[in-house]
Amino acid sequence: MSNYDYDLFVIGAGSGGVRAARMAAATGIKVGIAEGRRVGGTCVLRGCVPKKLLVYAAHYAHDFEDAAAYGWRVRPPTHEWAHLIAAKNQETDRLNGIYINLLKNAGVEIHDGYARFLDNHTLDVAGRKITAKRILIGSGARPFVPDIPGKEYSITSDEALDLMSRPERIAIVGAGYIAVEFAGIFAELGSEVTLLVRSELLRGFDRDVANELEAALERSGIKLVYGGEVSSIKKQDGDYLLETSEGRNIETDLVMFAAGRVPNIEGMGLENIGVELKSGGAIQVDEFSQTSVANIYAIGDVTDRMALTPVAIHEAMCFVDTVYKDTPRSPNYDFVPTAVFSQPPIGTVGLDEDAAKQHCGKVDVYTSRFRPMKHTLTKRDHFSFMKLIVNPETNRVLGCHMIGDDAAEIAQGLGIALKMGATKADFDATIGIHPTAAEEFVTMREKRSEN
Ligand code: NDP
Repeated sequence: MSNYDYDLFVIGAGSGGVRAARMAAATGIKVGIAEGRRVGGTCVLRGCVPKKLLVYAAHYAHDFEDAAAYGWRVRPPTHEWAHLIAAKNQETDRLNGIYINLLKNAGVEIHDGYARFLDNHTLDVAGRKITAKRILIGSGARPFVPDIPGKEYSITSDEALDLMSRPERIAIVGAGYIAVEFAGIFAELGSEVTLLVRSELLRGFDRDVANELEAALERSGIKLVYGGEVSSIKKQDGDYLLETSEGRNIETDLVMFAAGRVPNIEGMGLENIGVELKSGGAIQVDEFSQTSVANIYAIGDVTDRMALTPVAIHEAMCFVDTVYKDTPRSPNYDFVPTAVFSQPPIGTVGLDEDAAKQHCGKVDVYTSRFRPMKHTLTKRDHFSFMKLIVNPETNRVLGCHMIGDDAAEIAQGLGIALKMGATKADFDATIGIHPTAAEEFVTMREKRSEN
């Protein structure tokens, strides 16, 4: 043991920080961790987990209706928002307890409070001076709210998950993961939803998939307003007036910003150690998550590499292997499958069509659009869409994209195939499971003709 209080001190007990702290402690070193809010972080307490619980709740809206087509007779159901939020809180409290125990059982000492650098080996945590040989920053990110008049009347996903009642009308600003996920939740549970899309829906996703989502959102009654940004929010008698830079006025009961996230570096005293930052304020790291200050490392959303929980955990494992196990490895960001829990959900792995064309010039594209078997009886206007993008030179599948029920579950398996370098011939040689939606991925034979 060195002269420091800790061999490793971790700032932020989110998914990445907790994993790194536990795994590092398991190598026999002394580890401490600071958390200013609650152990568990964004994913467990304010993101993936509670959001997914609300997505499940939203799904029932259709399930009750669809059941009638299968002979079920259900009295018109009603939904109690307050019950849902209380149940969700119970689950996130349970997970918070589990994370605390995981740390304690691993021998990691937990410090309540925000950490601030005094120098590159010394931190102030809630008035206590702590020294460490190495420091890992895993402080995450928080919602971005533009600095406009009336911004104090708005909420973000943090507050949306804790609302005491469901708004009758909600305007959601943004068109990324969070915006479309919450639009689906509120719309399915009965709110009138307006989605303000500055440029395009789900920028960066495959355009065919985004277009399918756009059509599905409109079918479900969500109003999409394209162009411009919110310029002000005014409080009126009983509701809010939202004005856009393009001169639109929207009256609503609640305004939610889902306009991206910014790294949590404020108040951390980074100016005291001179850690290099990227232009948006994220911490610059090398391929081993090391910052420009040799004993300081950073992982997860605060580094703005790929803002996904499993990626932060992967970065944590690579950090521990590199620094404490003498087996250096850097995170690999190829073929990371991801899902958007919109209604319907999206599952995707690999390149979208535009990116694939940039990568290899010409691509072969296979698509399939169909009404899922379940809806042959319900007659619901509900479709699944799948797309395979193939490199014609090598026959390798570069991207798999799906929108439709179970897309997230299906994308996980496809991720393994693509990671292994599967070719279209491998997909074709795989026997389908019948009757499933997933079998479409191994039965697409017709190339889409060039436009
Ligand atoms: P994203 O970066 O995905 O999207 C931000 C959206 O906000 C874009 O549509 C952007 O428009 C828009 N926007 C930005 N600024 C403004 C503005 N001033 N006015 C109007 N619109 C604006 O951010 P999210 O907050 O949705 O998600 C953050 C990250 O969290 C994601 O990148 C993802 O990695 C992660 N995440 C993952 C989930 C999952 O795995 N299921 C779920 C939720 C989050 P434009 O396109 O014009 O820039």
